[in-house]
Amino acid sequence: MWAELLPVGRSAASGGYRRHAWNSADAECRAWFEQQARNRGLHYELDRNGNQWAWLGDPQGEGAVVTGSHLDSVPDGGAFDGPLGVVSSFAALDELRGRGARFAKPVAVVNFGDEEGARFGVACIGSRLTAGVLAPEQAVELRDADGVRLPDAMERAGYDPSAIGADRDRLSRIGAFVELHVEQGRYLAEGQPVGVAGAIWPHGRWRFDFHGEANHAGTTRLDDRRDPMLTYATTVLAARKKARLAGALATFGKIAVEPNGTNAIASLVRGWLDSRAADEATLTELVEQIHRSAAERAERDGVRVELTRESYTPVVDFDVPLRDRIAATLHGAPVLPTGAGHDAGILASAIPTAMLFVRNPSGVSHSPTEHAELPDCLAGVSALADVLEDLACQ
Ligand SMILES: [Zn+2]
Repeated sequence: MWAELLPVGRSAASGGYRRHAWNSADAECRAWFEQQARNRGLHYELDRNGNQWAWLGDPQGEGAVVTGSHLDSVPDGGAFDGPLGVVSSFAALDELRGRGARFAKPVAVVNFGDEEGARFGVACIGSRLTAGVLAPEQAVELRDADGVRLPDAMERAGYDPSAIGADRDRLSRIGAFVELHVEQGRYLAEGQPVGVAGAIWPHGRWRFDFHGEANHAGTTRLDDRRDPMLTYATTVLAARKKARLAGALATFGKIAVEPNGTNAIASLVRGWLDSRAADEATLTELVEQIHRSAAERAERDGVRVELTRESYTPVVDFDVPLRDRIAATLHGAPVLPTGAGHDAGILASAIPTAMLFVRNPSGVSHSPTEHAELPDCLAGVSALADVLEDLACQ
């Protein structure tokens, strides 16, 4: 399975993946998923939000145990973030069948669409729609960088966008969702290969628009300029400093400049802030501080700042009884916090949800160098099989 997925959507130049919602690489990943389901005689199903399901047992049965993750990537992402969970889910089912497990509940593998939000700027669109935390009226207005609307992108990829929205019936039949994921950090680096998630830090995306005045880089005196790039640069530095002082995280990783000319002072700099903290009060205060320092500097630069919150995910505490049960099944696997969002975090508001993390020796993620060692991946499969056996079998 791993070898089949490896070349799909990989850039020859960067070695990273460009599997973005509804693009051709995403289509190949989806075809792969459907084939894996059919190869195993699982019931394949596409839900109203474009998420893929592979069922062992009755999809309409009660108390289903669901596992899986996502197959899309960030721009130039690594091979493991998402696909490790989907591949491990199929492999865990194979292992359980090999053990002769007797299933007492329906089990499904799921591939949630557009987890990374690389194309439309909102993460976890597939699971957010399903859980009812993203309204269809908002979703249909989302556009990618080329102005393509989400429903049009779905339609062009051959999917019907007309019924997107909350899928409460489906969720009501799920007893537990367990997502296996490569660790994005180094908590496991020195210890065991597999851990259990404790909580997901609250996190969000904020867009800063710095409005200045376009002018000639060669003829405009420094004192006469209203250069939003200066305000932006100062804001990036302030964000870093204030995040460090707060024990939190703040990152400007995406920027858009108008007119984007080498010899032109920018008229507009748009910078996207990704920020995360252990609790919501700290996160709110941090973003306020960054906004204040941007506004102060803007005044000096003759620039106007606008702040827009594009997405926000409150703190997620995974289901404690489920987490404890899984940790016991795995003979005391460590419980780790995470700053990364996941479909499991979205679904935790609706159903009992848990996560397993597989060791990532360097901790690097969202990069072509993201890696996990084969023995650790196999330990992850076997741990997931143990968990599914405990939850779904007699
Ligand atoms: Zn992921």
